[in-house]
Amino acid sequence: MTNAATTLRLMDTHAHFDAFVEEGSVAEIVRRAREAHVLRAIAIGGTPDANTRALQVAAAFPDVLRATIGLDRDEIGKPVDVVLLQQQMRHTQVVAVGETGLDYHYGPATRSEQCALFSQMLELAAETRLPVVVHTREADDDTFALLREYVNRPGVDAARPGVLHCFTGTEVFAHRLLDLGFFISFSGIVTFKNGEPLRAVARTIPADRLLFETDAPYLAPAPNRGKRNEPAWVAHVAAALATERGVPLQEMAEQVWENASRLFAWRE
Ligand SMILES: [Zn+2]
Repeated sequence: MTNAATTLRLMDTHAHFDAFVEEGSVAEIVRRAREAHVLRAIAIGGTPDANTRALQVAAAFPDVLRATIGLDRDEIGKPVDVVLLQQQMRHTQVVAVGETGLDYHYGPATRSEQCALFSQMLELAAETRLPVVVHTREADDDTFALLREYVNRPGVDAARPGVLHCFTGTEVFAHRLLDLGFFISFSGIVTFKNGEPLRAVARTIPADRLLFETDAPYLAPAPNRGKRNEPAWVAHVAAALATERGVPLQEMAEQVWENASRLFAWRE
């Protein structure tokens, strides 16, 4: 006999399925995830093609996958089909807008265009009453300013405005975002040898706002670092966070399962 209290169940809150769709391996990836107790995952959109694929895999595996729809910073300068995005966001399998956000590491010159697209996605999130999955890198101040504006918009649920995914910022930045009501999600970077500064941040996040993810196919956690990542390996991220926070893996997994189910309003 098993039940929810004694069975490990993990959720990968952020994975890109594009490469798996292209090679026809989604069923195999889902099978391996289940074998590793990863019973739920969020398939992330961010480009018109990625949005279509996220919807496609969520429809094919409705008991395991949900989708997000949005446009990420690489889409700046391209036409935006707002009507299509609104239609896709209203699909029952869609649980968030994103990923979307700002990345000044490679693109500081496109700052104003990135902010404009990000703002547009935040508007859509408020309008569709969905939480937002945010990417941010070397853009703390602009990200914070836009998110502060966003959380005050009508339609935004203060209990679940969104998540800062693959968090790599400082403790101060994390807590400014927590003050806005955001969840903070950690990827395999917390398993890396040089990940100590980030592990220190992870120790300070309140248990009810913490998430973990693979960000597959990127950022494979140790001991698989450098390989192509997949949802099954979120167990390594969960284990690292459990160790850091001094809680059993089972408790860590269950807490994040509850947090993510709340954030994404997951319905069976
Ligand atoms: Zn991502």
